Amino acid sequence: MVIDLTTLPADRVPVVADLPPAALDVPADDFVVEAPVHFDGEVERGSAETYHLRGRLTATLSLSCARCAESFPFPVATDVELRFVPAAVERAGLVPAAAAGDDDGREMEDDDPSIVPYDEPRIDLAQVAREQCYLALPMKPLCREDCQGLCPHCGVNRNVATCTCENRWEDPRLAGLKSLLKDADGSAPRE
Ligand SMILES: [Zn+2]
Ligand SMILES: [Zn+2]
Repeated sequence: MVIDLTTLPADRVPVVADLPPAALDVPADDFVVEAPVHFDGEVERGSAETYHLRGRLTATLSLSCARCAESFPFPVATDVELRFVPAAVERAGLVPAAAAGDDDGREMEDDDPSIVPYDEPRIDLAQVAREQCYLALPMKPLCREDCQGLCPHCGVNRNVATCTCENRWEDPRLAGLKSLLKDADGSAPRE
């Protein structure tokens, strides 16, 4: 869904949309969008061709667990607060003061995530939804806090099965100690 900013019927227009997962165009390796992404908010015309998009975005993603590689549902519910500014204005550092954050005379931060420079006066809501989903991703996705992960020896998912590998695991420090003891008494390795 694309909002044409030049034809806004009023200074403040409600924006409610359900975006089909495919519209977000996310590589399946990153995550899967499981259901239409819902946005409920408004766009407001500001001064100097600046437009504010604000609202709430909700989505259900499917992520791959960093420990066990199983997919798990990941709900996203995030407040969106973006200012769309003409690219030329943004480049010139002429973004209205309210957007600059600090008023101690410093240049506007280039990476202010709430400012979106635009070349064409339109808002691609699917693009916004895509970025918001990426921003909501956890650093390390886990299917659950105490995910046991995969056994490094046999690869079994230790959340759903047990293997006997753990019994054979030996603390490498203990192994070093054993060989020391072995050397000390000169006998063959004991098992
Ligand atoms: Zn897991
Ligand atoms: Zn195992």
